Amino acid sequence: MTNPLLIDWTGPYQLPPFAQISDDDFAPAFEAALSEARTNTAAIADSADVPTFANTIEAMEQSDGALDKVAGVFYNLAGADATPAREALMRDLAPKLAAFSSEITMNKALFTRIDTLWQNRDDLGLNAEQARVLELYHQMFTRAGAALEGETAQRMKAIKERLATITTQFSQNLLADEREWFRPMSDDDLAGLPDFVIDTARAAGAERGQDGAVLTLSRSLIVPFLQFSPNRELRRIAYEAWVARGANGGETDNRVLAAEILKLREERAKLLGYASFAEYKLEPEMAKTPAAVRDLLMRVWAPAKAAAEADAEKLAEMMHADGVNGNLEPWDWRYYSEKRRVAEHDFDEGQIKPYLSLDAMIGAAFDTANRLFGLEFKPLEGTFYHPDVRGWEVSRKGKTLAVFMGDYFARGSKRSGAWCSAMRSQKKLGGDTVPIVLNVCNFANGDPALLSHDDARTLFHEFGHALHQMLSDVTYSFISGTSVARDFVELPSQLYEHWLDMPEVLERHARHYKTGAAMPAELRVKLKGATTYDQGFSTVEYLASALVDLAFHEGAAPSDPMAKQDEVLGLIGLPHAIRMRHATPNFGHIFSGDGYSSGYYSYMWSEVMDADAFEAFEEAGDAFDPETAQKLEQFILSAGNSRAPDALYTAFRGRMPGVESLLKGRGLLDPAA
Ligand SMILES: [Zn+2]
Repeated sequence: MTNPLLIDWTGPYQLPPFAQISDDDFAPAFEAALSEARTNTAAIADSADVPTFANTIEAMEQSDGALDKVAGVFYNLAGADATPAREALMRDLAPKLAAFSSEITMNKALFTRIDTLWQNRDDLGLNAEQARVLELYHQMFTRAGAALEGETAQRMKAIKERLATITTQFSQNLLADEREWFRPMSDDDLAGLPDFVIDTARAAGAERGQDGAVLTLSRSLIVPFLQFSPNRELRRIAYEAWVARGANGGETDNRVLAAEILKLREERAKLLGYASFAEYKLEPEMAKTPAAVRDLLMRVWAPAKAAAEADAEKLAEMMHADGVNGNLEPWDWRYYSEKRRVAEHDFDEGQIKPYLSLDAMIGAAFDTANRLFGLEFKPLEGTFYHPDVRGWEVSRKGKTLAVFMGDYFARGSKRSGAWCSAMRSQKKLGGDTVPIVLNVCNFANGDPALLSHDDARTLFHEFGHALHQMLSDVTYSFISGTSVARDFVELPSQLYEHWLDMPEVLERHARHYKTGAAMPAELRVKLKGATTYDQGFSTVEYLASALVDLAFHEGAAPSDPMAKQDEVLGLIGLPHAIRMRHATPNFGHIFSGDGYSSGYYSYMWSEVMDADAFEAFEEAGDAFDPETAQKLEQFILSAGNSRAPDALYTAFRGRMPGVESLLKGRGLLDPAA
């Protein structure tokens, strides 16, 4: 019998034949696709022909078409609609796919061909996009260590293996400390807590086999506890236990591991010829250098610190008025900040929701894309991989650009969070390929489904990523859509969020689902105030972590990371009542893997860009200014990774981004107000 994953998909839009695919088809399809990709790769690497761009790079681009197809369907289903069989297969596939990808980057013959092309790049007659693709291929191989020989290559392999082991250990220690600590709560301890916190504490007690409610260090419990509990002593005990995760001595202590991780990373970077791990890590990013990252963070630091200090004074006054003397401490901040929020910015989410029905917000996202880019959305008939999934044909002037699927409702089989993925990416090599793009969210279903403001923001965010995939217009899938630098990829998504809060978008689309009435102006004002509340605190705690991350990876690795952490925080003058968002022993972002190591800054980098990019529309005097929208599409949304991100941004904006728009957006420009 033929495997439905491997045949040509000839239905409308060449969609996968979901109805015919069963879980049993995946394993054999992966096996066949992997074997085909191996055969193709070997043929390229071992070819006797002189290497050319076509017989090497373009051939690589087309070597794993079947694997792309199978993986595109499988990983979307495994994330959005998991079954035990899919989960088991995912565990089984992880080492196989990792081995396949390192086989490729460690293939000497293949690297020699790519390196030959790279050395002769000026004589190959490549166009700009091809030159960029060659550069990125060469970079991928050299950064993986393909050019290393003999003992150096062996050492690199040993470092990677040791790092994989101890970074996993780091996150397991963190989890162990988080699970270990809990504290039974008496009725007195529960006083003053809202019902949802008490419910969470009771559920946590039941999970641990306790009779009543317990306090744990899970973020979803400890943060609201610190926000609402009037019991200062208990807040102190809980806070200190929370920040001590990974630093409790014994077998789960992460401090020694952190030092070893930093040392090995430095050695790895030096084997590859970089001065420091930060230089290695930042090379392919938009920021490029540690100096650029520090410059950005420090420009935001001073105004954020000033705002936080002004807030600290207000909170301390509230505390003193409460009859508590002495300094405002870290375990006091959230409690008094919550009281202040209620006094100054309170609004009931329940009042907002009737204006934000899911259908109205989908309509708002589509209408915004229509006004900016002329896109049209036509609902598609039929079912996809789950009955909840809805599909649309996306077109412009009669030309189909993409298929868009929305899978919006929470269900047990879906992992948490929200994301955008492409079941198939846009490319032109080998014939125009129309992308299949998905937004997956976890909204509560209802009749009709009503969103919170956060949900609506998420919908716009993921739709921004979807536009980056759907408007992609490149030849090579290697650089298509969202295949861009980590500190660049959130630009389209965070930028798109700005349109949700435009008065004219709310006016047109945020209509009461029963009466059709527009959202009252007073509610809109409250919404705006709430989104910029307490930004001094959150910016400061974030920046402290980002600056420590950078210092850890720049220059020689510190033998005592805790001492280094204290040194950095002392230099910047961290306000007394604020600590790092993630202290070193529990800084999983940078020690549980490589993802955000010397990359924690990138959240703020993207925010700087999205604020600055939206300002381009404001400067044009129209949030839908056609000329600015056209540039946004040409240089950002359709361009993928066809040019370096700083070149793309500069082409769009005429200059690199400045931090002023971000400060304004976070309400940090005038802290005295
Ligand atoms: Zn995102």
